[in-house]
Amino acid sequence: METLTTLSDASTSKRPQLAHLTAQLDELRAKGTYFKLRVLDDEQGPVCHYDGREVINLASNNYLGLCDHPKLREAAIAATKRYGVGSGAVRTIAGTMRIHMELEEKIAAFKGVEACVVFQSGFTANAGTVSSILGKQDFILSDELNHASIIDGARLSGAKIKVFRHKDVAHAEELLQEIQHEPGRKLVITDGVFSMDGDIGPVAELCDLCDKYGAIMMVDDAHASGVLGRNGRGSVDHFGCTQRVDVQVGTLSKAIGALGGYVCGSRDLIDYLYHRARPFLFSTSHPPSVAASCMAAFDILENEPERIERLWSNTKYFQQQLAEVGFDIGGKSTPKSETPITPVIVGDGRKTMDFSRALFEQGLMATGIAFPTVPEGKARVRCIMTSEHTKEQIDKALEILTATAKRMEIL
Ligand SMILES: *Cc1c(COP(=O)(O)O)cnc(C)c1O
Repeated sequence: METLTTLSDASTSKRPQLAHLTAQLDELRAKGTYFKLRVLDDEQGPVCHYDGREVINLASNNYLGLCDHPKLREAAIAATKRYGVGSGAVRTIAGTMRIHMELEEKIAAFKGVEACVVFQSGFTANAGTVSSILGKQDFILSDELNHASIIDGARLSGAKIKVFRHKDVAHAEELLQEIQHEPGRKLVITDGVFSMDGDIGPVAELCDLCDKYGAIMMVDDAHASGVLGRNGRGSVDHFGCTQRVDVQVGTLSKAIGALGGYVCGSRDLIDYLYHRARPFLFSTSHPPSVAASCMAAFDILENEPERIERLWSNTKYFQQQLAEVGFDIGGKSTPKSETPITPVIVGDGRKTMDFSRALFEQGLMATGIAFPTVPEGKARVRCIMTSEHTKEQIDKALEILTATAKRMEIL
């Protein structure tokens, strides 16, 4: 191991070709936003070990504790024993296993739609879908805080991109009016839950707009899957809009606990994506273990709704307590969280990163997020509640947050 490291250091560090990257890293270091990856030593849990230190974990998207749920593990092991570790090809060549089809049918039934296609990740689901269903004559109307994978998909499509102010339906309508006589198709797209602020997209109002202007409606429910709606069916279900959303994206990587993304909609939409979505056509499908874990997760959503109830009661308690101590958890100059995603706004990027590091030293894992992921001056430590945190753990987390913030004059 040591020899390898030494060798690679010696062979690459003096080459000038990538010196511009080193310069940019130095810039990040100077700004105080350079980070090292924290390494998880055990499993993703409410309390776990990163870099050898025991911490209360408020940084993961493991909303329902499914990352390490015994039933998902067993399903993965059984599928591995039966079908091996890899699918061996992309879906369209030889890599469609029966279990992939079963998972897609299960998700479609769960969501109450005709059909579903599973991608390797939520990122590829968004990017692959947006880029393939529109072309350069078309228009995309996108919330300014939509996820990077939507932005990349929009760019790849070549369509004209119009960005509306965050959750500003009137602004979206203005933009639609400006282009209503243009020949291209129009797609309106919003996150169901916004990942940095935890607020919920105006799905129903945007559906009204789409109906009025004949636009395609698309929702990215990555952070809403397993969190909002009946048994975690997502924001579209939460607003009763299943029949009015043409393209529903979800992730299997967050609350579902494994890995993947999916698109739900009409049979023709899914068939079209089978033929045209580039990540589906050109990148190998999931190992059978992943598909099996996801199937087990949907059974848990159906059979253990108490997990979702615990998630929401923990969230309510945590946010109430934070607000009571005087933390800015959004709702003033930033959007107000309506979900387990809880931003603790600090403002300055460097101070936020220092705060996050200090919390870690005290036994709390909460990620610092700064520009360009969030606007300049709105840096925050993002806390995400899960169903598996106990009252004692939440209280301890609050104690660490409060004491550290006071010491650093954030509170
Ligand atoms: C996390 C996230 C994705 C990407 O999902 P992955 O399965 O992790 O690739 C897409 N959209 C939003 C809004 C997200 O938060």
